Amino acid sequence: MSLARRLLLRASRSPWLAAQLRRRAFFRRAVRRFLPGEDLGAALDAAAEFARAGLGSVLTQLGEQVGNRAEAVAVRDHYLGVLAAVRQRRLPSEVSVKLTHLGLEVDRGACEQALSALAARAADCGSLLWIDMEESRYVDVTLELFRRTRAERNNVGVCLQAYLRRTPDDLVGLLPLGPAIRLVKGAYNEPPSIAFPRKRDVDGCYAMLADRLLQEATRGRGRPVFGTHDVRLIKGIREQARRHGTPASAYEIHMLYGIKAAVQRALAAEGCTVRVLISYGSAWFAWYMRRLAERPANVWFVVRNLV
Ligand SMILES: Cc1cc2nc3c(=O)[nH]c(=O)nc-3n(C[C@H](O)[C@H](O)[C@H](O)COP(=O)(O)OP(=O)(O)OC[C@H]3O[C@@H](n4cnc5c(N)ncnc54)[C@H](O)[C@@H]3O)c2cc1C
Repeated sequence: MSLARRLLLRASRSPWLAAQLRRRAFFRRAVRRFLPGEDLGAALDAAAEFARAGLGSVLTQLGEQVGNRAEAVAVRDHYLGVLAAVRQRRLPSEVSVKLTHLGLEVDRGACEQALSALAARAADCGSLLWIDMEESRYVDVTLELFRRTRAERNNVGVCLQAYLRRTPDDLVGLLPLGPAIRLVKGAYNEPPSIAFPRKRDVDGCYAMLADRLLQEATRGRGRPVFGTHDVRLIKGIREQARRHGTPASAYEIHMLYGIKAAVQRALAAEGCTVRVLISYGSAWFAWYMRRLAERPANVWFVVRNLV
């Protein structure tokens, strides 16, 4: 992992820096590249625009590590409202949540109940509930709560991170469920004992896991989603799918709002199922720093807004 990436990821956890930068107009302007707006209405409008262009969406309110029960309940109720709005506007949208945003650190039982309530509401809307994957210390509990919610209903999916050394084993353990899995490279600051430090190894692991997911999908098992902007990797995945005879409808490609927008539309025009993950909300600092860390050249975008 590069020094710039490590520094940016460390900075993402600094409350002092968050307080300083969140107030600055130039920083707020730079963030807008990745957010349609801070309120739900802007996110729903963006989802409707993507739908008109033939792209689906996944909605997520920014925030993590809530500190008390009232905040966690408010997050659950917010997402129940999001799903109702998605149904009312007939949007091809799903929702993705972070367990620490739903109060995992405050009350694990209540977090599980919130997940269950959201999965039930998503099922009423004919939609699917995604669970994000956070830092490595949350992987065990995330997979456990995923399994428990999945035992109640199957419209729930979980994210796996290719940079973690443990993920190939986690995937093997999950495959018998025929699960919806969103495979990503991984966005957090992890030590080399836990995550591959070299990009080459992360990309290699991603391709290997993607192939495994495609093989399952070819047999009609599971719903693989490839969450990446890596065009070379996507090309390889599509070639592999053709070799296995995996129908294009059996897998999806998800990208973040504001990144490779032209590629998103081109893939959809070529028959791929594409969804755009739309983040919104005011708690964008840590999340935005992770976007900068993914591509330190983005820091120039911030500097340009400053001058
Ligand atoms: C739909 C979706 C859901 C995600 N959910 C999670 C999650 O739950 N947990 C988690 O840990 N991570 C999550 N991530 C983030 C992921 O782990 C990676 O950090 C992120 O996707 C960057 O990796 P990449 O696959 O795009 O490949 P990279 O090799 O990092 O990037 C490939 C190319 O994409 C472009 N690119 C990538 N990132 C940016 C950026 N920030 N700004 C501008 N261009 C960029 C660049 O051109 C780069 O060369 C998610 C990503 C997506 C797309």
